[in-house]
Amino acid sequence: MALALKLNAAGDSALGENIRLFPARPAASARPRQRILLSPPQLAGGELASLDHTLAAGWIAPAGPVPEAFEAAVQAVTGTSQGLAVSSGTAALHLGFRVLGVERGDEVWTSSLTFVATIAPAVQMGARPRFLDATAESWTLDPDILESRLRRAATKGRLPRAVVPVDLYGQSCDLDTITALCGRWGVPVLCDSAEALGAEYRGRPVGKGAALAAFSFNGNKIITAGGGGALVSDDAALIARARHLSTQAKEAAPHYQHETTGYSYGLSSVLAAVGLAQIGVLRERVAARRAVFARYALRLSDLPGLSFMPEPAWGRSSRWLSVMLLDAARFGASRDQVRQALEEAGVESRPVWKPLHLQPAFRGAPFHGAGISSQLFDRGLCLPSGAMTAEEQDRVIDTIRACCRG
Ligand SMILES: *Cc1c(COP(=O)(O)O)cnc(C)c1O
Repeated sequence: MALALKLNAAGDSALGENIRLFPARPAASARPRQRILLSPPQLAGGELASLDHTLAAGWIAPAGPVPEAFEAAVQAVTGTSQGLAVSSGTAALHLGFRVLGVERGDEVWTSSLTFVATIAPAVQMGARPRFLDATAESWTLDPDILESRLRRAATKGRLPRAVVPVDLYGQSCDLDTITALCGRWGVPVLCDSAEALGAEYRGRPVGKGAALAAFSFNGNKIITAGGGGALVSDDAALIARARHLSTQAKEAAPHYQHETTGYSYGLSSVLAAVGLAQIGVLRERVAARRAVFARYALRLSDLPGLSFMPEPAWGRSSRWLSVMLLDAARFGASRDQVRQALEEAGVESRPVWKPLHLQPAFRGAPFHGAGISSQLFDRGLCLPSGAMTAEEQDRVIDTIRACCRG
């Protein structure tokens, strides 16, 4: 049966009597106070025009000039010469592991303090993860621990297939130090920059400097395509290989010919059109997130036992998320008490990433370090960092101030 989908002006669907695409919105006066979210998606304004342009020209598939234009835009903001747009950041990482030759039994090393997607594709490929601690000065991969482990692994002839540092919460890792160390032992670096588009490292955009870097355009990131990701590099061969694998590894032949198997990871033209509109406001978004952070720091830093994620001299963070640290004894309330108070005030907040070496999914995987990442997990809280009115941010700030008994 063919279904005709008609929308009336209110956005209701004529698909069926009781099906509505959008639930009816109560009048503003009847609406409860808006919950303040950690990092909600924010429209740039140009999305409808970009979509209109794309669809009117007949482009809808995950191919053609619109994903290509989005790739060019991602290359431009990251200063890289090669880019591949894909359906998610996780897909970008998966392709990165494939083109670096990760195979069953290989080791892949990463910072323990990150989101699960950093390492999940490698583990699903049969690789064995090894987790390294973060530094207190950057919350990112500790190069000293990396160096001592590489040295030891080299003597045993068991170097990792790839090292995956992470640009955490918009803060670049110390990439040059990490790539220099890895380069000494011939180990490629795939940087997980999913949280740090628009940030800088030593005066250049994040995304440049490693063999590969992965980005995400998921709904919670600094800009979004409504889902999507990208892999960037200055190595044309790596990106060509990733592109081949991202579209089912079809060989050049009139019939379907495959030397290996790939994935269906292309980015739809529809999403790329949204991404194009969004990437145009990246600079403004970074400025806005940094302003949110600056306001938290200004209004909260006087409280005892409260501090913020540091910004090392090597970089300019996008402050994708503003993250604070609480010393419960000095502040007079625990991180979880503050989180609960915020919840009651209609404010979403979240503990810092639970280190991967503490996740049951990776039970038994080796971890090296003094446990900085676990301390950050115990004491860190991510605060709403997206579009907020000053009044809304005041609600967050006043709630935190009211918790202080120090
Ligand atoms: C968001 C994120 C990803 C995954 O991106 P998706 O687009 O959601 O697949 C990977 N790594 C980190 C650190 C992230 O924050």
